[in-house]
Amino acid sequence: MKSFNLRSLKLRSGEQFRDEVELELEPFELGGERYLPVPGTVPADLTVTRAATGTVFQLGFTARMHGPCYRCLDDAVLELALSGREYQATNPDGSDELRTPYVVDGQLDLTAWARDTVALALPDKILCRADCAGLCPVCGKDLNDEPHTHEQQHADSRWAALEALREQL
Ligand SMILES: [Zn+2]
Ligand SMILES: [Zn+2]
Repeated sequence: MKSFNLRSLKLRSGEQFRDEVELELEPFELGGERYLPVPGTVPADLTVTRAATGTVFQLGFTARMHGPCYRCLDDAVLELALSGREYQATNPDGSDELRTPYVVDGQLDLTAWARDTVALALPDKILCRADCAGLCPVCGKDLNDEPHTHEQQHADSRWAALEALREQL
């Protein structure tokens, strides 16, 4: 776990600290498939700003995820430009809204923050390209390489029903 020691920062109200930090990105699962961050360690911009009533944390980084395309299972790459913002009141008074879950005992948990930031930015599906045609539901061939249809099956109502279901996925 990568964390940042906030105790060493002695910011006064109105002061800002800005530095490049290293993030360790974690693999994640989406739709039963596993996606790996490449590279697994990325540089990020961390800004800590002390205001009168609390501290604002900002994190900016780029994550590149590699894994199978949802439709054709070919390699897909998802690149995300990410930014996160958290606030911690100096005196939170027990209110969760005024406290960030990533600050624990004077340490900023960069790994957890990065993981959640990636998770929030994920699309429903990861595709090799936006218009990926996917695999043929009848013969399993890649429709990107070999666009085709199967005449007989399309005439069959059972297949039409399956087709309709597939459209909804
Ligand atoms: Zn694809
Ligand atoms: Zn086919």
